[in-house]
Amino acid sequence: MNPVIITFLGSRGPYPGSDELPSVLVSYGGRNILLDIGEGTQHRLLEVGKSVASVDSVLITHMHGDHVLGLIPFLQSRSLAGITTPLLLVGPSGLGGYLRDSFSHLYFDAGYDLVVVEVVESAGCVDWRDVVEPLKEVLRTSAGGVKLLRIPCDKVILKNPFEIRSFWVKHSIPTLSYRLNLAGSTSICYASDVTSSEEVVEACRGVRVLIHDATFGSELSNKAREYMHSTALQAAETALKCGAEILILYHMSPRYKELGELLSEARKVFRNSYLAEKFTKLYLTPSR
Ligand SMILES: [Zn+2]
Ligand SMILES: [Zn+2]
Repeated sequence: MNPVIITFLGSRGPYPGSDELPSVLVSYGGRNILLDIGEGTQHRLLEVGKSVASVDSVLITHMHGDHVLGLIPFLQSRSLAGITTPLLLVGPSGLGGYLRDSFSHLYFDAGYDLVVVEVVESAGCVDWRDVVEPLKEVLRTSAGGVKLLRIPCDKVILKNPFEIRSFWVKHSIPTLSYRLNLAGSTSICYASDVTSSEEVVEACRGVRVLIHDATFGSELSNKAREYMHSTALQAAETALKCGAEILILYHMSPRYKELGELLSEARKVFRNSYLAEKFTKLYLTPSR
């Protein structure tokens, strides 16, 4: 069985330093999914030999610029390349309005179906299947443009060919994290940006790879609290609590020129901790 491949396209935030802004490519079963799309993501895709056409879904955690400002250029390149296949975008409330306003001011028409699923904060939950049928209808009848669907739910569930769930986490603005359950026991949790949060522990229980906010070291835990990010130590504590197999430290502040201290801080609590670095690839075989 083919491996799941995780490629880090950028791993620093909220501004670039020795590495680029947040974006992770997950490739599996012919699908290519982007987790966040910071400024310059399309350039880094090309550098790892992937075209914009190869990406079929973009999952966005929140509307802070370092996670979303690569989206419009990516969509424009997709259009200029003559790509007509639909693109699925999932993110928090505000994503659809951002697209509509940007398209309007840029006099841009995608020319392909752009299916935007906004996860809104409210009680109750719908199964993803309730969304897929309207989606099919939209795709059958449209000739390009933005199609907006809102899900009054904090658990987006894509069943096939694998499962994708979203859940709300604590950050300074409405923010989602994602869990992808792929083949066998291969699962990935993507939690950026987030303050030390029980929601991550709950949603990521038994996950194989936890990619977690580690913006600061413990010496700046006050700043982590103030800006609602995590320290490397807090990321490690979360990995330990949820029983993750591997922790990837992510979204480190560019104030750190060297990341050795952050890594050793995490490894004191969770030995299987590693640093996300641009163009690092992680190959996961489907069963442990
Ligand atoms: Zn960020
Ligand atoms: Zn943020």
